[in-house]
Amino acid sequence: MTANLLDFDLEGLAAFCERLGHQRFRAVQLFRWIHQRGVARFEEMTDLARDLRERLPSVARVQGLPVLAEQASADGTIKWLFDVGDGNAVEAVYIPEDDRATLCVSSQAGCAVGCRFCSTGHQGFSRHLTTGEILAQLWYAEHELRRRLQTRERVISNVVMMGMGEPLQNYAALIPALRVMLDDHGYGLSRRRVTVSTSGVVPMMQRLAQDCPVALAVSLHAPDDALRDRLVPLNRKYPLHELMQACRRYLPAAPRDFVTFEYCMLDGINDTLTHADALVALVREHGVPCKINLIPFNPFPASGLRRSPRLAVKAFADRLNAAGIVTTIRKTRGDDIDAACGQLAGDVQDRTRVVQRLARRGEDLAVVRVQRPQGAREVAP
Ligand code: SF4
Repeated sequence: MTANLLDFDLEGLAAFCERLGHQRFRAVQLFRWIHQRGVARFEEMTDLARDLRERLPSVARVQGLPVLAEQASADGTIKWLFDVGDGNAVEAVYIPEDDRATLCVSSQAGCAVGCRFCSTGHQGFSRHLTTGEILAQLWYAEHELRRRLQTRERVISNVVMMGMGEPLQNYAALIPALRVMLDDHGYGLSRRRVTVSTSGVVPMMQRLAQDCPVALAVSLHAPDDALRDRLVPLNRKYPLHELMQACRRYLPAAPRDFVTFEYCMLDGINDTLTHADALVALVREHGVPCKINLIPFNPFPASGLRRSPRLAVKAFADRLNAAGIVTTIRKTRGDDIDAACGQLAGDVQDRTRVVQRLARRGEDLAVVRVQRPQGAREVAP
């Protein structure tokens, strides 16, 4: 089996090249061809030494992920569904805004945390993604968008590890992927523009601070342990007191001087002013500099939950802002394409199994492509 070069950060690729008898600067050349130029075929890497170019196909490959489906929203959001084999699929979502373009990336096929309001959590855990599978989402999105926009400039300015999966439960694969995102020879993103979102894997937050301190977001969703135990089951292992202390310890290493708390607004569950007051008390008690991002819940059939009314979300935000905690309400994006994390993967899970059967028989995968909804526009001009 040849090595997939998407699995390596620059140090890993340098070690690989050295084993082939080539110096580090060859790894830099190779790395730039792959990540900066999106080239997968070694024969196109014209400034590589000829003997390396000729050797590479027998020992290495640059293997992205097959795209099973694409949905484009009228607001410019694009969701891709990638096949990771064995009937599993993961999603990445591109979210263009006036001043940035963010890619939301998955770290696992499914998720073991099982948050009550999360479509991915409802599907259970299948497996960790490899470093190459995490990076393949960015690699594909960046170079596909450049092709459509007919630009050689970088398109994706921010990455959030906020797709399917709990990234800190897939730590070994996550760290090299983050390093490639940050590497000037890779995607050259600043640490402020790469965010890891965790449901609160406390020990790994400390390790992230040491190994690769990028911006941190924490999925909070409740102001007390009793409610958070129900909404985010990991809370039973790492309760709020420990989580808040871990946030405080993270900040000295972080590229921003605050933690972002994500709070999904669920009608009648966690969205009253009493909850808002309890949230203020929680962050004050622990002295965690923070911003709070209120997320309108994206309903999905099996959840049994409802999105909080707009006025309730506004009143909640006003209460937090009045208490001096900077609070924003996340714009809902991609409403017309099931943009809630994991929804598309859930929708096509059965069809994905069909894809496998067809693939074994050598039939055309295009039969399961999801149609673009009416009125959606292309990203390309
Ligand atoms: S919200 Fe995140 S951590 Fe919770 S189940 Fe969904 S993917 Fe997993």
